[in-house]
Amino acid sequence: MCESTNYTCHTEGACWTSVMLTNGKEEVIKSCISLLELKAQVYCHSSNNITRTECCHSDFCNNITLHLPAVSTRPSNFNHVELWVLVTIPICVLAIAIMLTAYTCQRRYCLYKRTRRQCNEEPLTDCNLDTDGKCLKDLIYDMSTSGSGSGLPLLVQRTIARTVIIQEVVGKGRYGEVWRGKWCGEDVAVKIFSSRDERSWFREAEIYQTVMLRHENILGFIAADNKDNGTWTQLWLVSEYHEQGSLYDYLNRTTLTIGGMMKLALSVVSGLAHLHMEIVGTRGKPAIAHRDLKSKNILVKKNETCAIADLGLAVKHDSITNTIDIPQNPRVGTKRYMAPELLDDSINMQHFESFKCADIYSLGLIYWEIARRCSVGGLVDEYQLPYYDMVPSDPSLDDMKRVVCDQKLRPNIPNQWQSFEALRVMGRIMRECWYANGKARLTALRIKKTISQLCVEEDFKL
Ligand code: ADP
Ligand code: MG
Repeated sequence: MCESTNYTCHTEGACWTSVMLTNGKEEVIKSCISLLELKAQVYCHSSNNITRTECCHSDFCNNITLHLPAVSTRPSNFNHVELWVLVTIPICVLAIAIMLTAYTCQRRYCLYKRTRRQCNEEPLTDCNLDTDGKCLKDLIYDMSTSGSGSGLPLLVQRTIARTVIIQEVVGKGRYGEVWRGKWCGEDVAVKIFSSRDERSWFREAEIYQTVMLRHENILGFIAADNKDNGTWTQLWLVSEYHEQGSLYDYLNRTTLTIGGMMKLALSVVSGLAHLHMEIVGTRGKPAIAHRDLKSKNILVKKNETCAIADLGLAVKHDSITNTIDIPQNPRVGTKRYMAPELLDDSINMQHFESFKCADIYSLGLIYWEIARRCSVGGLVDEYQLPYYDMVPSDPSLDDMKRVVCDQKLRPNIPNQWQSFEALRVMGRIMRECWYANGKARLTALRIKKTISQLCVEEDFKL
């Protein structure tokens, strides 16, 4: 028996109260069932946001008030707004975070690529990227005080070479043009070989990178690089730039004091003595002969001292096996400067010292060119090449051989040089460089000592 008003009953079976969300409002249903009906399935005690049911088994036990959880009783459109806010805000925040991260990464990547010269194809004119902010002097100093002492790492060489901006031609020689270039705001010299002369380029780069070759009187090598522009290959040697140009150019435009002459003479022979000297040990260097010494292959530095350049024909001596590192052709240098034993082919090529003696002969000629430009008592000779008065302007081997070997002539040593101690000593050195017998000539080390001593005696400050 049930109360018809609120559907609570006497029961042997079960009663329940159920509340359900219908059109945003709670709708309550109460009822009871008999023992017989109870055998069928009845779902009691369910609870979620839109329905809630409670069952019980005693009389009027469903006389209770049930409500849905608080949230479900609010108007439905409020729920949607809240849901929208809850979902949208985190998504927006996440999207902004992703965009910011992507932007930052992209900037960093671009910066990284710029340092690798890929982001910006313009040559870099500052020096703070791939080379850790170092300029040439720092890099070269590092190179000579650490590592193998044989030059910059190849990757650094390539990076430098590829960021040089070419400016103007400053010289022409056997193999191609020499340009002034800019790297890192500093001047550099770039010797450009055509791909036809690849072997010469390779050889010169190899010699410059001989362990411990670096010396203040030998041209400072910086980098070698081969650049393929799609049509042809350019082969570059980058070195320190000397704005005064070659000794030949310098002597043509300048006269010298005795002090100036001594300074040039001492610096050339210091470079040559270093080249000729073998240094034994792990950080040693082999003896090297230049084989093309002449005033056009010597550069004048800002401080009026010399640097020996153009090492393309140089040969190295392996003292352990007593061999020379490349097959020899005796007739490779500049004819005008060739020693008599090269001109008449009597040189003993098995003996490395022969090449050093031939260099000394050429050094004597260079000293003659220098000494003539020394102004003494207001007199100075015009610049001339050695043997200018004995052979034609582009002498053949025969022209040179006739004068040097057959007639045994040498450049003239003027009498007035005898009146000045420095010039007198220089004249004597020249004669001792020009002996027909190579073995009788002075060594570079001997000449260096003589000139150093003379400087002390004459009180020349070098
Ligand atoms: P090549 O092997 O073709 O004879 P060189 O190395 O002798 O080339 O250079 C030719 C000329 O270029 C030199 O005589 C000199 O006038 C100029 N030159 C070479 N190197 C430099 C340099 N580092 N700085 C300034 N001028 C240079
Ligand atoms: Mg040259």
